[in-house]
Amino acid sequence: MRYLAEFRDGEIAQRLAAEVRRITTRPWAIMEVCGGQTHAIIRNGIDQLLPPEIELIHGPGCPVCVTPLEVIDKALAIASRPDVIFCSFGDMLRVPGSHKDLFRVKGEGGDVRVVYSPLDAVTIARDNPHKQVVFFGIGFETTAPANAMAVVVAKRQGLKNFSMLVSHVLVPPAIEAIMSSPTNRVQAFLAAGHVCSVMGYWQYPPLAEKYHTPIVVTGFEPLDILEGIRRAVRQLEAGEACVENAYPRAVTFEGNRPAQRMLAEVFELTDRAWRGIGVIPSSGWRLRDAYRDFDAEARFDVADIQAQESAVCRSGEVLQGLIKPNQCPAFGKQCTPRTPLGATMVSSEGACAAYYNYGRFA
Ligand code: SF4
Repeated sequence: MRYLAEFRDGEIAQRLAAEVRRITTRPWAIMEVCGGQTHAIIRNGIDQLLPPEIELIHGPGCPVCVTPLEVIDKALAIASRPDVIFCSFGDMLRVPGSHKDLFRVKGEGGDVRVVYSPLDAVTIARDNPHKQVVFFGIGFETTAPANAMAVVVAKRQGLKNFSMLVSHVLVPPAIEAIMSSPTNRVQAFLAAGHVCSVMGYWQYPPLAEKYHTPIVVTGFEPLDILEGIRRAVRQLEAGEACVENAYPRAVTFEGNRPAQRMLAEVFELTDRAWRGIGVIPSSGWRLRDAYRDFDAEARFDVADIQAQESAVCRSGEVLQGLIKPNQCPAFGKQCTPRTPLGATMVSSEGACAAYYNYGRFA
């Protein structure tokens, strides 16, 4: 298939890996920000192609994984109401809250529906005027434009029974939090290509300069990732720290300006808690005052719900790259994809799920 097969060529992958081996003279720690990249790395054994000096640290870029426990509990409280149709992408249904997940709520009679677009939830609201319809609006900058569009469309259509439980998070503040942490080991970043396809990469040069850290915008196919690693290692070895775009077929410096305008119209910056990590200042979006009527948290009075993270699950350390998933004592024992203790074992982009599904038990 065009744009896929040519980025999965084994011979070119071996040549790129050989080039990384040739230019590497000492240990380097490189973080791939996105969970989709983590899965591609583990699925294709990319980390095993690299010289032992190169450590890939798996970053917090899995939206399902970083959604705080209390937000899951708020979703469960809203979805359990008899007057609500609760709409979500499918990957949120098995994420454990404090006591159950959305699948359980559905099994108990709640009207929980999987949709493929937030606009589907708007349509459901229009077709069910006697029900409250809530969309679970989580994710990074990638999913946010469609969510913003849904709110705009609902407002334009005068829908009073549509709202959104918003828990959006942003990549640049997360990079800043990782780099300023006293426990940080990351020396270069592979930035998430799909986030940059929306936002561009104009936000990154000040970060690269401030922390003297190379940032390479990287795609998701094996050759994309190897090329991102090659460019990061080249910069590290040369003592450089700039931003490079290794994903030009999808990303421009400016990004998608109409999408950014839509985001600025609907959302404003807010402090956001990241599951297992804590609050990162100005690291998320919430609805602006002009759209606050569509805020499910206020409409259903769930803002005060608090939750206590599991004492067993070490996903916070996994998400910060402090431990590998198979270093968690519960990995593959109490915690499996069938019996997940944390979101990183549930999500299709979760690092724990990647290690489990591709047999990285040691
Ligand atoms: S293996 Fe399970 S318990 Fe351990 S960090 Fe991952 S999700 Fe949490």
